[in-house]
Amino acid sequence: RKFIFVTGGVMSGLGKGITAASTGRLLANAGFDVTAVKIDPYLNVDAGTMNPYQHGEVYVLKDGGEVDLDLGNYERFLGVDMTSDHNVTTGKTYQHVIEKERAGDYLGKTVQVIPHVTDDIKRRIREAAEGTDVCIVEIGGTVGDIEGMPYLEALRQFAHEEPEDNVLFTHVTLVPYSKNGEQKTKPTQHSVKELRSIGLQPDIVVGRCDDRLDPETKEKIALFGDVPTEAVFSNPDVEDVYHVPLVVEEEGLDEYVMERLDLTAEALPPGER
Ligand code: ADP
Repeated sequence: RKFIFVTGGVMSGLGKGITAASTGRLLANAGFDVTAVKIDPYLNVDAGTMNPYQHGEVYVLKDGGEVDLDLGNYERFLGVDMTSDHNVTTGKTYQHVIEKERAGDYLGKTVQVIPHVTDDIKRRIREAAEGTDVCIVEIGGTVGDIEGMPYLEALRQFAHEEPEDNVLFTHVTLVPYSKNGEQKTKPTQHSVKELRSIGLQPDIVVGRCDDRLDPETKEKIALFGDVPTEAVFSNPDVEDVYHVPLVVEEEGLDEYVMERLDLTAEALPPGER
């Protein structure tokens, strides 16, 4: 089973969820069974108690789960139904760990973020991915947020436990224009540095920009991000977000992901495509 972890840099509302869902759509088009997990580092157990003006629409799943709007994107982009287990929150994770502590499951041990919370995060990701070929895991918020730290640590451990070609990290970041019309890579540079400082090296960098990234911009991001230039992709503004899979496909995102994860459509038994 393959896992694609999607992190975001610079600021939220960039299009990380749409980039993650588009990657999933392209892999589904290639014949793979794709699912997704959205990680929300807030302490609410679910999105049902949050103000929609502040947080956006609460998305209700078939199992009655009240979850983050992003799960709606995943259901629509991937054409699959999800359950509440596909939305991991800090509230859910801590609630479970504390219930286990009260039940005496960790008897004698000091219950800690590492390993108890991080183990629970990894378990949730693995369980949500069961029975599929690829699981896209989006980490809400931005790299460097205090709330997100246990998750990034869990992903670092996860990657360490899996064979190298089972896990891929995509980092979605902002590439703004300067007043004189230049694409600026400094924010990307800082967010990749932040990611690397916690032990995560991106495999792919996706730049959200008004337009496609110039070849020189890609080269610069590749150089300081320590990724091949072919691993830098654009996610330009489009009129309709359902066009994003087509835009990233044009740059070969799906092919790059499949090659890096050793996913070949032929590897799947014909009946399972
Ligand atoms: P994040 O996950 O980074 O918070 P989302 O994926 O939820 O961001 O996207 C934030 C907003 O930007 C959404 O309203 C989405 O429809 C819009 N959006 C995302 N990608 C694009 C794009 N390429 N062009 C135009 N709008 C986009």
